[in-house]
Amino acid sequence: MNIALHPIESRMMTVQEYLSEFGVAVFGERAPHARCPLCHEVLLLIGANSMRIPPRFSHRTRTRARCPLVRYGELPDDIAVTVTAQPTLARLQRAAYFARWQWHYGLMRDAALAPSMNITRFLALAELATQRQLWSIPALNLAYVPYILLAMAGYLPGERGYRRGGSSVRFWFDATVRDVADLHRKHEHAPRLFRAHYARPRMSRFPMQTHLFQLDEVRLDPGYLDRPMPLVSAADVQDCWDWMSGSGT
Ligand SMILES: [Zn+2]
Repeated sequence: MNIALHPIESRMMTVQEYLSEFGVAVFGERAPHARCPLCHEVLLLIGANSMRIPPRFSHRTRTRARCPLVRYGELPDDIAVTVTAQPTLARLQRAAYFARWQWHYGLMRDAALAPSMNITRFLALAELATQRQLWSIPALNLAYVPYILLAMAGYLPGERGYRRGGSSVRFWFDATVRDVADLHRKHEHAPRLFRAHYARPRMSRFPMQTHLFQLDEVRLDPGYLDRPMPLVSAADVQDCWDWMSGSGT
């Protein structure tokens, strides 16, 4: 991969920035290691001395890290929700989320997130939130909900021909966020969300880690609820109302 966490600081850096900061020490293998932005394990710099391949960051071979960026590794579990069901609170928070559904929907289909998001997927993810008891989390920050739902969504269709394209995208929080509660506690550094782009697999329906070809950091923007309402089509409004009236909200 071409980006990593700085060895000591909390910022991301490119291979070029790493090379210019640690310079000669990299070639003597005395430089501090960059870290994986997702699992925070140490990364090696591969190809720094090579004339044939461009240098890149890589996990140690045979690493046991459960990381989406480990080529033949295992995926970490989805973001967890640890909570006891609280039906009254859940109903209130779900209603509050739907009172501003256009903002949440508009954010999720933004070009920097999941432009393939449509109203059917959006409503299916709200249903998933209900199944996973997300609405029962005390003082749930509604501005985080679209990001949490994207991280729970699994593989989503990418946009063929759109920017870097790819047939699927998947969202991952960094290793400091394993449970939704982690997003709600005070952090030394703000949690990070990443969008991974996958190429279309030939042999299977869903991509594997070997199909990953691009990773972007997504900026968490808690201010989107303060902006004017995003445009939503009349058909989407109708679908959402039909769904809400059918689901007993
Ligand atoms: Zn990793």
